[in-house]
Amino acid sequence: MPSCDVCGNDYDKAFRVTQGGKTMTFDSFECAIHALAPRCAHCGCRILGHGVEAGSNIYCCAHCARHSGAQGISDRAA
Ligand SMILES: [Zn+2]
Ligand SMILES: [Zn+2]
Repeated sequence: MPSCDVCGNDYDKAFRVTQGGKTMTFDSFECAIHALAPRCAHCGCRILGHGVEAGSNIYCCAHCARHSGAQGISDRAA
């Protein structure tokens, strides 16, 4: 049985995630998020949604992007 790359749990429903050519095995989404989810460059929280990319940084929301000096970013549709 595959075991989780984060916690080592041996689980028959483990799954694999490939990101940027690297494949990892997880027993849960929680472990996958722990290993793979990016962190907001401003507040440091895990980004589980689409996030906001500005320059080379990624933020959890437009508020954080603006706080870090990104221009012209809005959460609201015009
Ligand atoms: Zn795990
Ligand atoms: Zn943030």
